[in-house]
Amino acid sequence: AKRTTDVLRAPVICVLGHVDTGKTKMLDTIRRTNVQDGEAGGITQQIGATQVPASAIKERCKMVKDFDPEGLKLPGFLIIDTPGHESFANLRSRGSSLCDLAILVVDIMHGLEPQTIESIKLLVKRRTPFVIALNKIDRLYGWESNPRKDVRQLIKSQANSPQLEFKERLQKTVAEFAEQGLNVALAWENPDPNEYISIVPTSAFLGDGIGNLMAHIAQYSQTTHAKKLAYCEELDCSVMEVKALPGLGTTIDVILVNGALHVGDIIILAGTDGPIMTPIRELLMPQPLKEMRVKNAYEHFPVIKGAQGVKVLAKNLEKALAGLPLFVAHREDEVDLLREQVQEQLNQALHSIKLTSEGVYVQASTLGSLEALLEFLRSQKIPYCGVNIGPVHKKDVLKASTMLEHNAEFATILAFDVKVERDAQLYADNEGVRIFQADIIYHLQDAFLKYREELKQ
Ligand code: GDP
Ligand code: MG
Repeated sequence: AKRTTDVLRAPVICVLGHVDTGKTKMLDTIRRTNVQDGEAGGITQQIGATQVPASAIKERCKMVKDFDPEGLKLPGFLIIDTPGHESFANLRSRGSSLCDLAILVVDIMHGLEPQTIESIKLLVKRRTPFVIALNKIDRLYGWESNPRKDVRQLIKSQANSPQLEFKERLQKTVAEFAEQGLNVALAWENPDPNEYISIVPTSAFLGDGIGNLMAHIAQYSQTTHAKKLAYCEELDCSVMEVKALPGLGTTIDVILVNGALHVGDIIILAGTDGPIMTPIRELLMPQPLKEMRVKNAYEHFPVIKGAQGVKVLAKNLEKALAGLPLFVAHREDEVDLLREQVQEQLNQALHSIKLTSEGVYVQASTLGSLEALLEFLRSQKIPYCGVNIGPVHKKDVLKASTMLEHNAEFATILAFDVKVERDAQLYADNEGVRIFQADIIYHLQDAFLKYREELKQ
């Protein structure tokens, strides 16, 4: 398909980082300011994502010294609402990532933490460019906040002690990144954006540096990554969530990065019982924020172009799987090929997971949540010998039961945010396979560790 860098789409942005570094706060800050500013905002809460239009970016970056609003070529940002590894991992296309750019949040008081390092590895593996928000600068002792000032100037205008502390902590963080094999530098001192990753100091809490962060992201994505952001007809769309809604049935929330979806399009996507093929019945997006008082939360569209977060209504979505791309078959003869492709991608994703010969059996609702759970189990040194996504069926119990002969504690299924079929539970009870079910990763771990202790006694 033809691409030109004259027409750019909004970059899809994810927020990653260690717990408590301020990821959620960062999203809130980016959203809230615009909501408060009302008019200039025009921000819309998308499905699973927030659309920050160009007008809001301009407004937000007014105080940034080297930002030229006239030069802004992007129509906006599309920021994924749920921060974290899981949603990032769900945004995938042919093994790579649909996320164009990530904000890696680092707490200036803590430097690099275990999940920061996990996030870095993930970003490097998927070749996703990122910007570092060195957050919580307001916690430097004696810091004077001013969100209306360019943060570079703001740092200069601080008293000696916070300036010194900033420098020291910055240097420490730079050294920690170097240990991970990465060159990083303050955004305005970055000698080469292809070699150095930029750091923007921020306070998600008070707003300091958020303008600089947004200006930097805009600048960086429309220059260094313009090619990738050229709007293109070729569909790039990923299923983020499968949701049953009263009155609407089972719907899917997708991030449409590129190309367009039309009502009536025949979509093909992964399902627990094989690929699903179904025509789009409705395409929905939420009303813009200022119209939110209207009871009817969704607006209907005949066609939607990327990048947007979209709710898709169609039949037969009950068994849809999140975390994989969605395709459109434009011709009859494409259908079989696309079905194969969808199945192949699911197989590939599952087969690329390294299993041990002995371990628990792990089941999750999406590829992203499966990966997040596996990452956690690895950190806890809990081995796994089998994985699957979707509800727990009898055949899963059968697989888990093979551990009974080897190591009874591993004859266990950790079911994360999925249903357990009745006959599967009955079978498990008969065979002596334990199924632990939870919506929170930590609860699963607790249940498993407690069970392991019990077995030992
Ligand atoms: P997440 O786990 O990364 O999503 O972190 P949260 O956004 O939930 O933030 C964790 C805690 O840090 C909360 O109490 C926030 O209010 C606080 N926090 C986040 N950003 C900042 C910041 O810039 N400055 C200060 N002082 N606190 C912050
Ligand atoms: Mg959070």
